[in-house]
This record gives sequence, structure tokens and C-alpha cells, in this order.
Amino acid sequence: MPVDLAELTAEIAAAMAGAEDRGQVARYIPELAGVDPAQFGIAIATADGRMFAAGDADTGFSIQSISKVFALTLALGKVGDQLWERVGREPSGNAFNSIVQLEQEHGIPRNPFINAGAIVVSDVNLGGHQPRVAIGEILRFVHYLTGDDSIAIDEAVAASEGATGYRNIALANYMRAFGNVRHSPELVLGLYVHQCAIEMSCRQLALAGRYLMLDGRHPDGGRVVSPGRARRINALMLTCGHYDASGDFAFRVGIPGKSGVGGGILAIVPGRASIAVWSPGLTEAGNSRLGGQALEILARRTGWSIFSPP
Ligand code: GLN
Repeated sequence: MPVDLAELTAEIAAAMAGAEDRGQVARYIPELAGVDPAQFGIAIATADGRMFAAGDADTGFSIQSISKVFALTLALGKVGDQLWERVGREPSGNAFNSIVQLEQEHGIPRNPFINAGAIVVSDVNLGGHQPRVAIGEILRFVHYLTGDDSIAIDEAVAASEGATGYRNIALANYMRAFGNVRHSPELVLGLYVHQCAIEMSCRQLALAGRYLMLDGRHPDGGRVVSPGRARRINALMLTCGHYDASGDFAFRVGIPGKSGVGGGILAIVPGRASIAVWSPGLTEAGNSRLGGQALEILARRTGWSIFSPP
């Protein structure tokens, strides 16, 4: 019998509302430290055009590293496979903001979803322009994907990270020394912190991810990326989307997912669903604790997995 997604999302939201161990909200970005951890939202956009949402699915949150999916999509559109000369495609096995592999690997980050990789992607997206131009481009892309022009950047979050993001400043300067960051690190990070500070609700994020469940198509019929590129982005989400906990996420949930330190996760079931979950408390690896649990329950109850027949 097909699972009733309206019932299931409501059931998951109710279970998460009562959860005790919610994890810790990110504190290293001062503006995120004050977010109330007692929140949970879930939204599922299905391939046949329906939407199921429960809990705090309409509350906006900072998408943070989930923006790396949209930024990667844009950068591949600009430079195609040449991007892979500057960024790898291997899971790092290290924390999202780690610098340790960059020295041995000559300033080439392991993948586009750790901070170092996303900073190179920002360098590509900057393309000789001022950050404001590239920020406008990524925001317009998100508006196009969702059909929702109200999505905006939380300037307080961007400023907060801009003023305190010493590790990212170090990463950008280090890669600049290897020639793998080509603009001034200040401009590159200006773009990076603003894309991370895009605020979206679960409902909006689930809409934004639809092209990845539809083999690269926009639900309006337009093509966002080729089918092959959509599959590769999904592959990177599965292998690298949760940093050094990516293997665990694949094991427990079994679908591509990209997390952010704002507590959101975008997860894709190819051909079936684009899912967004959000709860601000994080695990030690910096992934939403309840978000991961919710996706685990959802995958088990629906049977959704890229490792079993549809
Ligand atoms: N803006 C955050 C940072 O650079 C994004 C990290 C994340 O979401 N994992 O630290």
C-alpha cells in the first residue's frame, strides 16, 4: 500500500517536536547562535507536483552550505568540466572547514561541498565581477528554481560570518597562494558568505531541489542542467554532502543529501521527491541531528533509497 505522505510528515513532525537530544546550534557564526533549537520542519515536493509539509515548514532559516549545491550548478554552467581541474570529487573524511589536506594536495580541495571547495566555486562564479553581481545571479537562480521571488539574503547573518569567518579567510588566502583562488580573497568570501546567508523555508528549499529529482529539468519543462550533470551533482551530494559523516548518512538514509550549519538538509530521491528538513541543533560533524533522524524514518517508511529498485 502506498504510504500516505501527509500522514507520515505529520507523524514525523510530531515525533521530532518531542525529541530530547536536539544537538547544539552553530555558535561560531554569532548570528546563528541565538536560533531557537526547539524547531523542526519538513517539506516534500513530489515528482508528480504535490507538496507535503509539516511542523515549522514555513519558517525561514539560513541555508548555509546547502547553497553549495546551487553555486556548484552555476559554476558548472560557466566552466563545465574544467571545474574539476581546480576541485576534486572525493569525500574528504575531514571536517567541513578543515585545511589539513590542502597543503599535500597543492591547494586543490577534495570536493565542492567542503568550505575550501565551495570557496573555489565562488571564485569561479565571481568571474571578474563584483560580489554584488554574482550574488544577484545566485539569488535569481534560486528564484527561478522555486518560482518565488521573495527569497532573500539575511544581511545580518552575512555580516556576522563576514566579520568572524577567520578559518574561511585562511582557506581562501592559502588557496590564493597556490593560484587556485584568483580574485582577492575578500571579494570571493563576500560572495561566499552572502550565498550561505540565503534564507529559505523547508517548503521553498524542497521546491528549489526539484531539478535534481527530475534529471535536470525544471518542473515547467525548461532544462536547468543535462541529465548527466544532475546525476553527478546527486552523486556528490551522496558521497560528500555531509562532510566526514557522509558515509554514515548514505548508510542510514541512502539518498543524496546536502546539509548546512543552519540545520537544514536538502535530500533528493531521483524520480520521486525533493525533500527539505530543518532543525537547528547539530551533531558534532555539523549536520542537523533531528533532520538526519527524520530522513532516516522517512526513507525507512517509504522505502525510498537509491540502493533498491523503485
Ligand atoms: N557558512 C558556513 C561556513 O563557512 C557554512 C558551513 C556549513 O554550513 N557547513 O562555515
